[in-house]
Amino acid sequence: MEAENLMQQAENHMLHVYNRYPVVLDHGEGVYLYDTEGNKYLDFAAGIAVHALGYGNEEYNQALKAQIDKLMHTSNLYYNQPTIEAAEKLCTASEMDRAFFTNSGTEAIEGAIKAAKKYAYEKDGCTDHEIIAMNHSFHGRSLGALAVTGNAHYREPFEPLPGIVKFADYNDLESVKSQVNEKTCAIILETIQGEGGIFPAEKGFLEGIRRICDEKDILLILDEIQCGMGRTGTMFAWQGYGVKPDIMTCAKALGCGVPVGAFVMTERVAASSLKPGDHGTTYGGNPFAGAAVSKVLTIFQKKKLTEHVKEIGAYLEERLEQMKDQYECIRARRGIGLLQGLELTIPVGEISNKALAQGLLVITAGNNVLRFVPPLVIEREHVDEMIDKLGMALKG
Ligand SMILES: *Cc1c(COP(=O)(O)O)cnc(C)c1O
Repeated sequence: MEAENLMQQAENHMLHVYNRYPVVLDHGEGVYLYDTEGNKYLDFAAGIAVHALGYGNEEYNQALKAQIDKLMHTSNLYYNQPTIEAAEKLCTASEMDRAFFTNSGTEAIEGAIKAAKKYAYEKDGCTDHEIIAMNHSFHGRSLGALAVTGNAHYREPFEPLPGIVKFADYNDLESVKSQVNEKTCAIILETIQGEGGIFPAEKGFLEGIRRICDEKDILLILDEIQCGMGRTGTMFAWQGYGVKPDIMTCAKALGCGVPVGAFVMTERVAASSLKPGDHGTTYGGNPFAGAAVSKVLTIFQKKKLTEHVKEIGAYLEERLEQMKDQYECIRARRGIGLLQGLELTIPVGEISNKALAQGLLVITAGNNVLRFVPPLVIEREHVDEMIDKLGMALKG
């Protein structure tokens, strides 16, 4: 009854922009979540690829509690130690040189776009530069991020959107080439399209884009907000392809629950891009967020999480492939590591609701894909439990 009341209260007072699953989540433990009624759920959603460490990691929790007692916020007018450490660790992990911390993924995208535009402006003093983005991409909900998001449903009511953006087909190099001209300042894409339905880039496609960018001094922006932070078995997905971006965005699992994102870039870009006064944020990179990022990156290393993901990701992939052979309603499996999708021929929303009733949280992507983005700390037994519960949902 408690949950019913809370949900009613939510519908009375909160802006209705989500059709939420009918549960009120209360607390987490390991890779399980509990609702206010005491029901237990195996979590293969992780707050949309956020909770890489699962729930109740003692070292992470203690670090945050200690930082709350010390200092939460300073503004960027002053230095603070946790964020300096976070920046150093993020640059090392991403093989980049300079980081700017934001409060979300969409803000990281905004910053990346501004950095690319400023880089081009520094070269020729013009402001008519173009960006090439991908069809079926997702980069966020603010106007700048929407401008590079290739989904008419998300964009249409808010047009005209800022900037000159041209769209190309993902994994179609000729389509990208046909949009390139002397005004192109950046090509932006997800290394693995997440929201659009879990489509990994093909190696040749990424390499081809890198070549175009090198030839014409166009900046390659890789959006690693969902596919980054160890999810594919390397710290960032591009590292598995060996195609390094000029600017990279990161968020979601970066803070493992604390709202924080970042855009990072090479020194070459930083040297002729955003300068004092060009960009800023009040909250971004405050000591609380910095402490989270710093601790998360340390724990990733200590636990050798990328190695674990390679192993457990291979097992998840194997079990999902078996399922695909077993169920006619599964058309395809796609993904790398612990970023996986099953394309269904039946409504995916119904299946994720049935899974919920079985005590399993899975989410959807695109309009026909079930998305699996569990905490990176899951073990084989959790994969087995998920497969059993999903099997019940598919049968029921
Ligand atoms: C979630 C996501 C974003 C937006 O991040 P928010 O934190 O929701 O603003 C951008 N790009 C990708 C690839 C994402 O998955």
